[in-house]
Amino acid sequence: MGYLKENIKSKNLITGGAGFIGSHLIKKLLENGQKVICLDNLKTGSETNFSNWKNHSNFNFIDHDVTKNLNINVDKVWHLASPASPAKYKEDPIYTIKTGVLGTLNMLKLARRNNAQFLFASTSEIYGHSVNFPQKESEITFGNTHSSRACYLESKRIAETLCYEYGRLGVDVKIARIFNTYGPNMLMDDGRVICNFISQSILNKPITIYGNGYQTRSFCYIDDLISGLLLLINSNYNQPMNLGNDQEISILDLANLIKIKTGNKLAFKFLENREDDPKRRCPCLKISKTKLNWQPSTNISEGLDLTIDYFKKRISFQNV
Ligand code: NAD
Ligand code: UDP
Repeated sequence: MGYLKENIKSKNLITGGAGFIGSHLIKKLLENGQKVICLDNLKTGSETNFSNWKNHSNFNFIDHDVTKNLNINVDKVWHLASPASPAKYKEDPIYTIKTGVLGTLNMLKLARRNNAQFLFASTSEIYGHSVNFPQKESEITFGNTHSSRACYLESKRIAETLCYEYGRLGVDVKIARIFNTYGPNMLMDDGRVICNFISQSILNKPITIYGNGYQTRSFCYIDDLISGLLLLINSNYNQPMNLGNDQEISILDLANLIKIKTGNKLAFKFLENREDDPKRRCPCLKISKTKLNWQPSTNISEGLDLTIDYFKKRISFQNV
């Protein structure tokens, strides 16, 4: 019975647990009384993100690279390990591909050996430059195989295919196509837009806008995403599912909002557009609403307030 399953202590492996999303997931699972193994090689994550529960009896940390084989006993694998910020995944494209492909293969093998549930953190990047909005899971898209973004998006695509194939072999696989998510625990130098705009504003630097700023994204606050991931892994839905917020905003409007909230008085600094930067991104949430009865509830203004507050505290802590 469903409620019984929730009460059993599961052994959860969270790959990428020292990263932004992984650290929030770990917090939630520990609060729910679950056992957690955080696996990370600290490539883009930070020990600070799990320092609060280092001594928690249900928490363990393994310093490990997912591209290497792993043999442990687990009930659930939450496979999140991968650089996620374009600024970071482009730094070492071959590393990004190995993590996406070999890392996912290794973690699927582990799930199969353990008969464990498996959730894969896929991405809205899969939709590339789609022309239909909001973006539906059924959209068939093709990426440019040789752009600087391809290392990330192509390895996520093949990783999804690996997930389907292991699903056919009997692994209980869930695929979350995550849209731009933000919140506390992102690193100041992460390079993603909300981190850049907030840290630039707090440090009294001009906000950097790539291109004209008319490109859009739809930003999901972390707490909303985490509740979606928890519902998804426990659902019986085995097709890819969008998880995100469908309130679309232009990068220019986002910059203006953060400028007002932080009191940044400096003029924007417009820089050259990034190669292959998608012009629009906005999820269709029909499937998550129908299958999980889930939808995000934090609007961008509330989410930014919480995130700005966190970044301010981090900066003042570093300056002590
Ligand atoms: P993040 O960079 O904060 O966290 C990723 C974590 O994975 C880091 O702690 C990093 O050290 C770890 N890692 C990277 N390569 C590894 C390897 N080879 N072995 C072990 N650990 C490794 O990123 P995030 O925002 O938390 O993203 C988590 C996952 O969600 C990623 O798979 C990402 O592609 C996906 N995702 C995130 C977003 C978003 O907006 N945050 C959007 C779409 C998809
Ligand atoms: N962006 C920007 N200035 C920055 C960082 C990002 O204008 O300092 C833009 C970027 O060009 C993209 C959007 O913000 O259009 C989101 O970028 P991000 O790196 O957060 O992630 P993406 O959605 O591209 O994966």
